[in-house]
Amino acid sequence: FGRLRSGLAKSASQLTGNISALFTKRKLDDEALEDLEDVLIRADLGVQAAGRITREIARTRYDKDVDEGEIREALATEVAKTLEPVARPLEIDPAAKPHVVLVVGVNGTGKTTTIGKIAHHERGNGRKVVLCAGDTFRAAAIEQLKIWGERTGAEVIARDQGADAAGLAFDALKTAREQAADLLLIDTAGRLQNKANLMAELEKIVRVLKKQDETAPHSVLLVLDATTGQNAVNQVEVFQQVCNVTGLVMTKLDGTARGGVLVAVAEKFGLPVHYIGVGEQAEDLKPFDARDFARALCG
Ligand code: GDP
Repeated sequence: FGRLRSGLAKSASQLTGNISALFTKRKLDDEALEDLEDVLIRADLGVQAAGRITREIARTRYDKDVDEGEIREALATEVAKTLEPVARPLEIDPAAKPHVVLVVGVNGTGKTTTIGKIAHHERGNGRKVVLCAGDTFRAAAIEQLKIWGERTGAEVIARDQGADAAGLAFDALKTAREQAADLLLIDTAGRLQNKANLMAELEKIVRVLKKQDETAPHSVLLVLDATTGQNAVNQVEVFQQVCNVTGLVMTKLDGTARGGVLVAVAEKFGLPVHYIGVGEQAEDLKPFDARDFARALCG
């Protein structure tokens, strides 16, 4: 929790600094509520969540004197209530052998790093993990995944840059099945510039996986970068159009003032949030906990 709190310190001060300025001691009238809603929008909670949470806070306190502490506490409660339904662990089906996770997202959001971190976490749980270097567009992504493989003791299935990602995914699943691995994590390229190409590529990967296991992929994880703020909301929309997203990971919650975007995403899509990233190291992936996050965000 300490790590989460320090990671979210900027997001928290963005939110609560403004609340302090508003509510030294003040009547919660229409003007104060409007100001509060504004603060929430500026903290990236999104228009929808900001409006609903403000109304919720007003329900029992309208026209009453409130202080900063009370507003912060009420806010933490409402944020936790918003996040609780989506805070769900990534469940790995032990019967799947392997449970196949396709990891998607825009370039640079942290897909490869998140795969390495999940591999570390699941190796720690005693699971056999295979990684597929499916971002065949970037040589650096392939190299980076190989390093994570060495670090975590997970086998990495890779080909040279430019290779066909679907063919590679097919081979990776074949190997993982032969080895009775528990988990196969497949990296992908995230070139959003051409949505049609991206969709075709992801569809092709899914198609070849299904040739071997019609229930694969068992999870499609969308990785979002908190520092992009409301862009993360747009990315969910786009990726829901190109593939069947089953859950989210939000990275780079350390050191950004835009962590509130997780609330916007939860409110808007209701997709499960499995993990959050709070740094670049293997241990810096945390199972998502709604209350801890709300407390860290609301200071
Ligand atoms: P990809 O293109 O989506 O595969 O993104 P990468 O995994 O290559 O990550 C891009 C950069 O973000 C790298 O420098 C990572 O170390 C960094 N990164 C990933 N996750 C986090 C995180 O949770 N916090 C921080 N601070 N950096 C991260």
